[in-house]
Amino acid sequence: MDKSILIVEDEEKISRLLEIELEIEGYRTARFANGLDALEAYRRGGWDLILLDVMLPGMSGIELLRRIRTQDPHTPVILLTAKNSVEDKVSGLDYGANDYMTKPFQIEELLARIRASLRHRAGAPAETAGEEWLTAADLKVNEKTREVLRGGDPVELTPREFDLLVYLLRNKRQVLGREQILEAVWGYDYVGETNVVDVYIRYVRKKIDHGRQPELIQTVRGVGYVLKENK
Ligand code: CA
Repeated sequence: MDKSILIVEDEEKISRLLEIELEIEGYRTARFANGLDALEAYRRGGWDLILLDVMLPGMSGIELLRRIRTQDPHTPVILLTAKNSVEDKVSGLDYGANDYMTKPFQIEELLARIRASLRHRAGAPAETAGEEWLTAADLKVNEKTREVLRGGDPVELTPREFDLLVYLLRNKRQVLGREQILEAVWGYDYVGETNVVDVYIRYVRKKIDHGRQPELIQTVRGVGYVLKENK
């Protein structure tokens, strides 16, 4: 199957050039010029690799990377950084970028690095591939296909509900505070009601736990929530 590459770059000329070159190489692509739009697109899922500019309107590439890595340690990210911005490279690598290219770059070199990153991903050990299914009791969640199954029955979740469930599952058996959940799932600069966490926990519970045993999402009074198989 063709690999899908998410291009996040606000310089139209570079973005268009990347699109053309990548499509010639047989990749499927989508382009976004704004960090927030890119985050939405990322959350819809199905990306094999992300090309990420650092200086972006809406949300910086570094912040976007940080949010991606809170839930997804695997999808390769190659940063596109401006010349001389050593700081971006360092913080980018700290936040889990796999590689970076300094602009202006030679397209052949970028293509080589994309191939290398995808090969590395494909060659990841079996247990990494197995991590695409997160499980607890008879709940199964596939991050790649975004399928959710409870007792074998498909469950429909909105993108935000899905992100919340994945975060709880990734931190199974750990008690998570509301603030912690808010930061991981909504981002630290979220402005709005803090009870949004409680509201979404209720939605997710209704969909995955209602009428089923064991009840996986549990309230820890005065602290927050935990997802676990038993009381
Ligand atoms: Ca830029």
